[in-house]
Amino acid sequence: MNLEDINKIKELLSLPQKIAIIPHKNPDGDAIGSTLGLWHYLKNRGQKVTIVSPNDAPKFLKWMPGSAEILNFEKENSQSQKIISEATLIFTLDFNHLGRVGQMQSILEDAKADFIMIDHHQEPSDYALVTYSDVHMSSTCEMVYNFMDYLGDSDKITPEIANCLYTGIMTDTGSFKFSSTTSKTHRIVAELIDKGAKNTHIHNVVYDTNSPSRLHLLGCALKNMVIIDEFNTAYITLSQDELDAFNYQKGDTEGFVNYGLTLEGIKFAVIFIENKEEGIIKISFRSEGNFSVNEFARSYFQGGGHTNAAGGKSDLSLKETADYFVTLLPKHKKELTK
Ligand code: 5GP
Ligand code: MN
Repeated sequence: MNLEDINKIKELLSLPQKIAIIPHKNPDGDAIGSTLGLWHYLKNRGQKVTIVSPNDAPKFLKWMPGSAEILNFEKENSQSQKIISEATLIFTLDFNHLGRVGQMQSILEDAKADFIMIDHHQEPSDYALVTYSDVHMSSTCEMVYNFMDYLGDSDKITPEIANCLYTGIMTDTGSFKFSSTTSKTHRIVAELIDKGAKNTHIHNVVYDTNSPSRLHLLGCALKNMVIIDEFNTAYITLSQDELDAFNYQKGDTEGFVNYGLTLEGIKFAVIFIENKEEGIIKISFRSEGNFSVNEFARSYFQGGGHTNAAGGKSDLSLKETADYFVTLLPKHKKELTK
């Protein structure tokens, strides 16, 4: 953020505002951690502030301090619409174009508030008064830490804020192993632990709360994995029937896509998950090295994200989607095999 933006935000926050904070649809640890971290900070500064999420968060994030107060646009629709239409300031966190909020898109487009974007995805849209966008950041949580620091308020980081931000940095960096993790990320994480983040506890509540049915679903996913050595690619499919058979709960497939990359030599891993209710196949892409799954998802699957982690969707059937995907690989043979 440049000095002009910092001063603009200082001025805005020196006045009483009605603030809405918005994460993306199907919020992950970084989206919920960053919105809650910012929510605690703004609330502690005496602002009127509400988080409105496009839909529900997975259970493994619901322990986070403040999470019970998040409005769910799908379930608490009229209250959510009122908050957004009456807001004077809207923060959008962990996404960078309004198509990422699903049904909430038109409501946000009609809102009168000034927008502030804090995000680390590629190719941000131009809808905000202040755009704090940095694709080199590990996570939006790391940026929310910087945001408070820029405002001279790193001493106002409470244990609640520290726990929220730690969670998002941990989940978006794959527990501090992805290449987006820098020495600065580690310094911030160290600072958050000093300020009260319960690091071991957070790892336990996020990663060590498997149900037997989730592990069985993982078994099914791994059994379904197709390995295409010629293109250093591995993909997984999960049909709605398979999800139903293993009593699928929101969040259960989190992390499954990464197993493909643990195979020696595999550079590109994908999971296709059927969602009958929405009539789509939801897709997650992961890569190692220079192959940009952001570009791949953007070009073929109405999506986007980062160089090594992106998402998208398909309106074809599960089998047609996987077949179509396989036909695309030869076009990328060079990048996938070099
Ligand atoms: P995941 O596969 O974990 O859902 O998402 C990986 C990354 O891609 C995240 O940074 C997420 O925000 C982004 N992403 C996931 N789905 C979509 C999508 O449909 N469109 C765009 N633009 N980004 C997505
Ligand atoms: Mn993120």
